[in-house]
Amino acid sequence: MTEPMTKSRTIRRIVAVEAAVLAAAAGMHRRHSLPAAGLLVAGAAGAWAAFRPGSPVFGPVLRHGPRDRPQAALTFDDGPGPSTPAILDALADAGVAATFFVLGRQARRHPELIRRMRDEGHQVASHGYDHGILVMRGPGYVRDQIARTESAVADAAGPGVLTHLFRAPHGFRGPATWAAVHSAGYRMIGWTRGVFDSADPGPDVVAERSATALAPGCILLLHDADGWDPDHARAHTAAAIPDICAAARRKGLALVTMDGLVA
Ligand SMILES: [Zn+2]
Repeated sequence: MTEPMTKSRTIRRIVAVEAAVLAAAAGMHRRHSLPAAGLLVAGAAGAWAAFRPGSPVFGPVLRHGPRDRPQAALTFDDGPGPSTPAILDALADAGVAATFFVLGRQARRHPELIRRMRDEGHQVASHGYDHGILVMRGPGYVRDQIARTESAVADAAGPGVLTHLFRAPHGFRGPATWAAVHSAGYRMIGWTRGVFDSADPGPDVVAERSATALAPGCILLLHDADGWDPDHARAHTAAAIPDICAAARRKGLALVTMDGLVA
């Protein structure tokens, strides 16, 4: 099994690419070299395509639902984890169904929470197996992430529970990602707005940013766990759920699953 590319290694690689781009820019400035200018543009375009989550360069990504219906979707990545039960409790209290982009690794650790998602009317979708970054990976690696997650969710809650929506870790994609996801029968999903709840900024901040972001068709990105640290709780996100649901009600928005949003 290939070791997943961690966030820190990805960031180191981005820094190395940026350093190379800066060096190329310095050389171009000195020599007015057209090839260097071309490389600079190509490098910047490739980085933009890979690391900007909504970029269409590496295939279409659904980033929002119809804006002419009073609906929005809460989506949770990286779980199930320690905060998922509290999030499920808060969603149940508010009568809201959400979509969980689960990691196969976490479904293996917490199969009972996958069953709870199923039993409480939530949608279960795929975030890959172990949060491995896909940018530099070939189609075999991507398909393996998808297949292992399918098996984990099926073992936890039965076949047919995992819906065929896929969200890449951090939204980062490479040239092989979309075709591999598409050939596995999945649709690539992004998000309209994130509120950086993964930085644990406090429940009030998570709720306030979410209330500001919610609008017709919005796919709101939240986290019920931590893709890199399975034991890290998302207590701030969990505590913000009642206020987020109340804000949606004030705005006249029904909170629905992804299937409900795009149906
Ligand atoms: Zn993630």
